[in-house]
Amino acid sequence: MSRIYKLSTLVANQIAAGEVVERPASVVKELIENSLDAGAAQVDLEIENGGFKLIRIRDNGCGIHADDLILALSRHATSKINNADDLIEIKTLGFRGEALASISSVARLTLSSAIANQTGWQVVTEGIEEQPVCCPAPHPRGTTIEVRDLFFNTPARKKFLRTERTEFEQIDTLLKRIALSCFSVGFTLKHNQKLVRQYRAADSPLEHQQRIGSLCGDAFVQQALKIETDTTLDLTLTGWIGLPTFSRAQADLQYFYVNGRMVRAKLVNHAVRQAYHDVVYGDRHPAFVLFLTLPPSQVDVNVHPAKHEVRFRESRLVHDFIYRSLQSALAEVRPGQPQLLPPTGIQSRTSLQVDPPPIQQSFGATTWRAAPRKVQEHISIYQRMHEDGLSLTPSVDIDKKNTATIPPLGYALAQLRTIYILAENAEGLVLVDMHAAHERVLYEQLKRDLANTTIVAQPLLVPLSVALSDREVDLLEEQSAIFLSMGMRIERISQTVILIREVPSLLRHVEWEQCIRDIAADLIEQEQSCRLQDYADHLLGTMACHAAVRAQRKLSIAEMNALLRTMETTENSGQCNHGRPTWMTLSIQELDKLFLRGR
Ligand code: ADP
Ligand code: MG
Repeated sequence: MSRIYKLSTLVANQIAAGEVVERPASVVKELIENSLDAGAAQVDLEIENGGFKLIRIRDNGCGIHADDLILALSRHATSKINNADDLIEIKTLGFRGEALASISSVARLTLSSAIANQTGWQVVTEGIEEQPVCCPAPHPRGTTIEVRDLFFNTPARKKFLRTERTEFEQIDTLLKRIALSCFSVGFTLKHNQKLVRQYRAADSPLEHQQRIGSLCGDAFVQQALKIETDTTLDLTLTGWIGLPTFSRAQADLQYFYVNGRMVRAKLVNHAVRQAYHDVVYGDRHPAFVLFLTLPPSQVDVNVHPAKHEVRFRESRLVHDFIYRSLQSALAEVRPGQPQLLPPTGIQSRTSLQVDPPPIQQSFGATTWRAAPRKVQEHISIYQRMHEDGLSLTPSVDIDKKNTATIPPLGYALAQLRTIYILAENAEGLVLVDMHAAHERVLYEQLKRDLANTTIVAQPLLVPLSVALSDREVDLLEEQSAIFLSMGMRIERISQTVILIREVPSLLRHVEWEQCIRDIAADLIEQEQSCRLQDYADHLLGTMACHAAVRAQRKLSIAEMNALLRTMETTENSGQCNHGRPTWMTLSIQELDKLFLRGR
């Protein structure tokens, strides 16, 4: 071993740069965040050669005082916090005073700035040891930062980077993510002197909608629900979520912001998945743009070098709040309710109070006191019940009805190929996929029914012992009362072994050893598990699918009307259990268009 030496500032800064300045897009992220922290209303970006040759960013924010320009470039120098106490309550995007120091250690940086009513000043650095010098340079209020020849003095880093095109795409994607989070700021992006993007500042709800459309596509805007919880409370969730039928093959339209900062959080993904789990088919991904706001003291942003992750003080409350807000918005999607964004203006969909949910709720929406009957019994009961119900409503001639009283899905006209119901409502033609619709109706009924009966626990002949880690057993033991309420009795028999004594009778065929391991893993990952609920829902889904009227069956008009009426009062009835749509309408106007009428 040699003796210990203190590293030079340059090398120390380059090491720190390894954490925040990974590639051109991460430089751009830090610089835009500085502009936003400075209160800029307009941010203009110019990129050359994917950002390797030049990144120039200009803003009209508050600017930097001439005396602070050089300081701004040194490490741990920041105007955003003063002491450790401030770390508890961070209100800005930056706070570590590291970005400019890091960037200037791996590139040639020019910083020009002016505060209100003063002329500008400029400093130039070359990624070298010497103190930069400050000289006057005219500049309007705001700041311009030029970063040239990124990684010119750290060739090792440069070797790992991709082509200029890929790096530019990263910048483009990043700007999109940021532009989604601050509607009131305008952005332009140029690449090699060509204007590639222009996001105008958006103030009215219509402009917000246009901006969302230009960032996420108009299809999303047309098939999204607006989320807006009670904004007078401390914890609020706003934004847009895609209808289940707008699900995607990739998780590529998922944006989540906490107090304006874009983050990734397992807890959030879990809550969203859970809210959609009944309406989106297994490997599809919901689309969302969501903004969570809460007091800064409730969230720790100082947990990740690039601040991509956050930690919530009340993680369970936040999880359940997101889950419930989305779930209730989704449950409202059913015929007869205005569900899509109107063409102009945006509607509020939900309004929730934040009431910390009781602990049992973390296993899903249905409270589990359920399931004495056998599967086959359920199927036949529902089949019978439904068949009785199906013959109750008489057929009605729509012409004789006042349009105000026509139900949303209208009245049945005919059945097509024993698969589709054709109906007429005030708007025009309604098409219903019989099987898909009936399946959802049955599923929701089964869930309601299960929620209203008492759960039957079945003792295992030979109790099952499962060896786990200390911590897993601790967590399972903590939850044992909840398990019991769901019909599962567990008991700790040693530091690392848990014994399963009873299981919910409905779920007796589940592979319990694997199940308890999975639940323990969930508890470690995200402090909660919805596996029992998932198993139960899956089982009910299978039952509903088998019990639902199969395509190929001829229904009478009365039966069809009965199904339409039931759909109108069933939660989630816009999609079947696999996330396929159950019905759609063709308005008279659309039909006229098809036939070129009135042109
Ligand atoms: P941090 O953002 O964590 O404070 P930075 O290294 O990114 O650290 O910036 C250092 C300081 O320089 C900031 O605290 C801020 O005072 C100032 N600064 C940087 N960029 C701008 C800007 N675009 N407008 C105004 N001030 C800026
Ligand atoms: Mg910063």
